[in-house]
Amino acid sequence: MSYTLEGRTGTWEIVVGLEVHAQVISHSKLFSGASASYGGEPNTHVSLVDAGFPGMLPVLNHECVAQAIRTGLGLRARINLESRFDRKNYFYADLPTGYQISQFTHPIVGEGTVEIELSDGTVRHIGITRLHMEQDAGKSMHDQDPTRSFIDLNRAGVALMEIVSEPDIRSPEEAGAYLRKLRQILRYLGTCDGNMEEGSMRADVNVSVRKAGEPFRTRCEIKNVNSIRYVMHAIEVEATRQIEVWEDGGEVDQETRLFDPSRNETRSLRSKEDAHDYRYFPDPDLLPLVVEQAWVDELERELPELPDDKRDRFIRQYGIPRYDASVLVAEQAIADYYEEVAKGRDARLAANWVTGDLFGALNRTGRSIQDTPISAQALGGMLDLMADGTINGKIAKEVFEDMLETGDSAADIVERKGLKQVTDTGAIDAAVADVLARNADKVEEYRGGKDRLFGFFVGQVMKAMAGKANPAIVNEALKKVL
Ligand code: ADP
Ligand code: MG
Repeated sequence: MSYTLEGRTGTWEIVVGLEVHAQVISHSKLFSGASASYGGEPNTHVSLVDAGFPGMLPVLNHECVAQAIRTGLGLRARINLESRFDRKNYFYADLPTGYQISQFTHPIVGEGTVEIELSDGTVRHIGITRLHMEQDAGKSMHDQDPTRSFIDLNRAGVALMEIVSEPDIRSPEEAGAYLRKLRQILRYLGTCDGNMEEGSMRADVNVSVRKAGEPFRTRCEIKNVNSIRYVMHAIEVEATRQIEVWEDGGEVDQETRLFDPSRNETRSLRSKEDAHDYRYFPDPDLLPLVVEQAWVDELERELPELPDDKRDRFIRQYGIPRYDASVLVAEQAIADYYEEVAKGRDARLAANWVTGDLFGALNRTGRSIQDTPISAQALGGMLDLMADGTINGKIAKEVFEDMLETGDSAADIVERKGLKQVTDTGAIDAAVADVLARNADKVEEYRGGKDRLFGFFVGQVMKAMAGKANPAIVNEALKKVL
């Protein structure tokens, strides 16, 4: 179902393209040997290159290039064997050189695509226009002193990948799904940690509106939105604003805006600059970047299995529903956990326990899979007890809760609490006889055709045996007598 907004003059469609800045995972910066790690005392991760000292020359970091290529491959995009670095000139206090080294006309990665899935099951493909490498700027700090501002250059020169999408996104939900998918791919690849709170992934959100079937209209760019939820809000708020402007007979100006989540509005920051304002030119300190196809092939061979491929494999190999498979591949660590539990066991049952009981428990206790109180081996051990008939599904729930609390193994808990399933037909037959004797009226009704009372008898027998009877044997025994 397509997403639209109703105005006074009819139905409007939203058009969105995202520019995502993703900080590259690497030891050192894009053109210097200074540490690229997050945080640290201000100005301790700064080389003379990063500080823009005269006469310093940039040296390209091989690993950052590899990371950009891996990312391009993960986005199923074209890798450009020749790319170039340009200077984007502007003055700002946190940019000591007076220019940012970026890739303008010749990016390292060209067109690609990202598959997204919406809540109603619709699958859409969002085009990637390009990915290029560039340097991050430093940070101005205005809140350290009443009269002065300070500059921290730790971040200056850290490698960024700017990933630009086509204007293919048509709703806040699609924007959210796109960003989640992009982050998932980056994390699988190990090229960016995708941590939006720490700013290692941030999005510029381009929004316009149009009537169905019309050409695109003027867009506004909302800068530096740092959470997926805010991106979704900003799109809705900005689209609503633009619809009002158009419907009041005005024109939307192409401009850069800021999203203010506390007031749920966007505000104009500056009129949109054009490329020529930055006086781009090829950086004379850097040769064109030429990479060998053989190296690209090697990087491709070493890529991990990507989320979409893993999901499709899970569906095939384990026979689990697509939705469960998508949930299980959300994070590499979850997928690994699941595979460990499913190995040599009932894979559908394993999926139910992981996505149901385990995720529920993790949510309740605010934990992630990395610090799960129940290891994959432990959960697998419990499934083994179900498979060999030691416990039934109902008792398993009780054992699971105990495992969560005590960290004991399922076998120990069953032993300690005497939860072993009763398969002794004599004991079950006795309980059946007793239940039927106490419910002679219901037996009458059942025999008169009230079939659904069967469940009632099963429940009564299980209750009489403290939940420990083997349900299959109980069913058999009841059928025989009734
Ligand atoms: P710039 O670098 O000046 O911001 P780009 O041409 O690189 O410009 O485009 C930036 C982003 O704007 C892209 O993600 C693109 O998909 C998006 N975009 C382009 N036109 C529109 C439009 N009419 N409505 C919404 N987004 C758009
Ligand atoms: Mg832009």
